[in-house]
Amino acid sequence: MGLGHLAKTVIIEELSRVSGAMGAVVQASQLGVAKIVHFGNAEQKSHWLPAVCEGTCMPTIAVTEPKSGGHVLGMSTTAERVAGGYILNGRKVFVGNSHIGDLHGVVVRTGPGSRGLSAFLVPSDATGFSLGPHRPAMGLHGFSFGELIFENCFVPSENLLGAEGDGLAVAYSSSVLYGRPNLTAVSLGIHQAIVEHTVRFAQTHERYGEPLAGLPTIKQKLGQMQSQLMTARLTAYHAAHLLDEGMACDAELISAKLINVESSLDAARTAMEIHSAYGLDPGRSIERFLRDANHIYAPAGTSDVQRLRLAEVALGTYREQWSARLSEQLRCSTVHSVPIQVHTISFS
Ligand SMILES: Cc1cc2nc3c(=O)[nH]c(=O)nc-3n(C[C@H](O)[C@H](O)[C@H](O)COP(=O)(O)OP(=O)(O)OC[C@H]3O[C@@H](n4cnc5c(N)ncnc54)[C@H](O)[C@@H]3O)c2cc1C
Repeated sequence: MGLGHLAKTVIIEELSRVSGAMGAVVQASQLGVAKIVHFGNAEQKSHWLPAVCEGTCMPTIAVTEPKSGGHVLGMSTTAERVAGGYILNGRKVFVGNSHIGDLHGVVVRTGPGSRGLSAFLVPSDATGFSLGPHRPAMGLHGFSFGELIFENCFVPSENLLGAEGDGLAVAYSSSVLYGRPNLTAVSLGIHQAIVEHTVRFAQTHERYGEPLAGLPTIKQKLGQMQSQLMTARLTAYHAAHLLDEGMACDAELISAKLINVESSLDAARTAMEIHSAYGLDPGRSIERFLRDANHIYAPAGTSDVQRLRLAEVALGTYREQWSARLSEQLRCSTVHSVPIQVHTISFS
């Protein structure tokens, strides 16, 4: 759409405010596009991107494996070079849009060490490719994040993304520049919904002959939720804006994911407390928000991992600023023309 990172954040946030699953579908599809934009050659871009824009090709990114999780360099799925291409063997798990994806961007081992990872575009109808059974998870119902299986799966050489050895850059840059802000946006949308629903409940649910919102302890909780929501939104929009400006902002993107995930989980718990037994009723959506908010903790790095990266920033040992390296491609010229709606909540 050419609208930029901040506009994308608002779009994903608004979708997630209504349906965390829908926000998750959209954010995951963006991850799949980014690696083609940043690492694809002219032929790959002209072949795949028009189909993505038309909505006939849903791309994914597949990095996580059962035995390595967030430790990307621990992966063991392999690609072996053969005449005309590569043979892939192994499994990927928790891949966003796994069961509706048409083109999987798969990072695998082509050799040892950190330069031994490479990325491939694998169409979902490739021979030797299959999906694990589709299983619903605790939350985000409607979003598939499942298993990709490669059994002697042949991929032609022209489907190698970037050069052999670029796999770690594809995985890390996608995670920092797209995964973090996209999941931040999903978290923010769920967070907004939590606060809205809880305020409405506190205004309409009566105890001691008056709305719950009249109780001092409930007011304290609502005030804390409002403050955390506003802080979370600031960090999300600020980081996305810096991306639009082409400025180095890896730390801001990482911190925004940490703050948004942690504060939305806090809000979900406080909301459940305010709702008390009524929060357990699926008809009120609060328990759905609690389940959905928990799903945003792991992808693009758990909060432990975000804190590790931020410690590196503090210690001066954080190495590659992906936002600086890809700055020219990330900058968005239309940034100032996007109207941003800021939510306000009325207590009256
Ligand atoms: C909704 C959703 C969507 C996802 N989408 C995708 C996708 O599109 N593509 C994809 O490839 N993957 C995807 N994932 C997978 C996600 O990236 C992984 O869940 C994540 O990398 C963590 O892996 P893990 O869950 O195996 O946990 P692990 O990495 O095994 O972590 C387990 C625990 O150990 C801690 N830990 C791990 N390493 C360290 C460390 N170095 N220091 C301190 N503590 C540590 C963690 O914080 C956590 O508490 C998705 C997951 C979810 C839930």
